[in-house]
Amino acid sequence: MNQKAEKVNNASNLLKKFSTIFPDELQCLEMLAELKWKDGFVCRHCGHTNWCHGKSVTSRRCTKCKREESATAHTIFHHCKFSLNVAMKLSLLVCQIPDISSYELSRQVKIRHMTCYHFQKRLLVCQQGQPENELLKELLKEMTKRLEHQA
Ligand SMILES: [Zn+2]
Repeated sequence: MNQKAEKVNNASNLLKKFSTIFPDELQCLEMLAELKWKDGFVCRHCGHTNWCHGKSVTSRRCTKCKREESATAHTIFHHCKFSLNVAMKLSLLVCQIPDISSYELSRQVKIRHMTCYHFQKRLLVCQQGQPENELLKELLKEMTKRLEHQA
């Protein structure tokens, strides 16, 4: 198998495993929320630590000031034009196959090439030490761990 074919094959295998563990958006949001608030919830507005579920099951609402924070807020996945499921797939591919092209990403996750190109750039900038990187690193670690168990 040549190098390119191998890369394509690697990518397909990764995504196949990923889809078994994270079949839909909810699983992805749940994992992100779990990691984001693993040390507990602190309201960004008033510092209160008690919360209840917000409008979506994975968002948290401060019981004091009633403000709500989604799982993706203040992460690299905030304001993505595509689902978290797709964003996690892209993150995984970019992390595990470092020189994968944005064209190949586009073929693999079936969204527009330019969208993949921009998100890939955002991921690479983030990995160079943006504050969102800590959570991204943990997310990738956790995804990889679960994928390995699957193998
Ligand atoms: Zn609050």
